[in-house]
Amino acid sequence: AKDNGRARYSFYVPGLDVQIRERLSMANLLRHAAERGELALLYQPLIDLRSGRVVAAEALLRWTSEELGVVAPDLLVPVAEDAGLIEHIGGWVLERACTAAAQWQSIAPCRVAVNVSSLQLQAPESFSEQVDMALKHSGLNAGLLELEITEGVLLRDRPTIGALLAELDRRGIRLSLDDFGTGYSALSYLRRFPFHVLKIDRTFIAGIPDNQEDTELTRAIIAMAQALGLSVLAEGVERPEQRDFLVEQGCDLAQGYLFSRPIDADALAAMLGRNGAV
Ligand code: C2E
Ligand code: CA
Ligand code: CA
Ligand code: CA
Repeated sequence: AKDNGRARYSFYVPGLDVQIRERLSMANLLRHAAERGELALLYQPLIDLRSGRVVAAEALLRWTSEELGVVAPDLLVPVAEDAGLIEHIGGWVLERACTAAAQWQSIAPCRVAVNVSSLQLQAPESFSEQVDMALKHSGLNAGLLELEITEGVLLRDRPTIGALLAELDRRGIRLSLDDFGTGYSALSYLRRFPFHVLKIDRTFIAGIPDNQEDTELTRAIIAMAQALGLSVLAEGVERPEQRDFLVEQGCDLAQGYLFSRPIDADALAAMLGRNGAV
């Protein structure tokens, strides 16, 4: 933190442990981050493995705080959730991502995938309204929006979340099951909820081809997704051997540093302009 008169953002409460104090002051800074223009989205291309073209992009949140520097989303999101800020930030992400995607369409068709925190889904009405507003304001077709949901949330509140997911599906929005294979994987989710895409967590992909267990699990997950009529995406593809293995297995989509790191909206548009070739 810089000492330039912004001391009002840091404070000391005796007895609070350092970590909690850090999270509190981070939450206070985060409260104003969107208004101060400190939040941004980067977009990572999702590649169709058959054509080699970019068919979608995942929006990834970045916070460059004047006081804290760059804060990773893995750290930011839990703080936002604890501080009751995730609804506000999540709404900002939806608006921004849909607006960017609406602009790409004049260049080439490309979906946008937005990460959704489980807490956002706990308030189904306001989430549903945020999605509506983002589509309306941007003019983006609902079929071009994908929502990425992790498995953990599905355990918590089945009737409400089931109804919300069914409603989003009915409106033509695509649903992705994110980080598949980590946490509480229950195959029954794939039957019970209207997912279109299954994203294999990158910890599995990292083990291909050297780790036999990861390689076999990935093979099995792809076969299972195909049998269920789901699109399957491999996250974290970094090496050509991994891409070749995935193509061989008939995996539909891939994402990872091998193709592109997350880039800004203009760079994604430029990539689409090159016929979606990476
Ligand atoms: P995720 O949804 O699993 O996103 C993929 C993460 O993998 C991203 O990290 C991405 O930069 C990284 N990645 C992509 N390709 C590769 C690769 O080839 N190798 C490696 N090692 N990593 C790769 P990032 O951007 O740091 O985001 C971390 C997590 O933060 C995301 O994981 C997601 O859970 C969360 N997140 C990001 N943006 C948002 C957001 O707008 N809302 C919410 N609720 N969560 C978000
Ligand atoms: Ca994701
Ligand atoms: Ca993921
Ligand atoms: Ca992840």
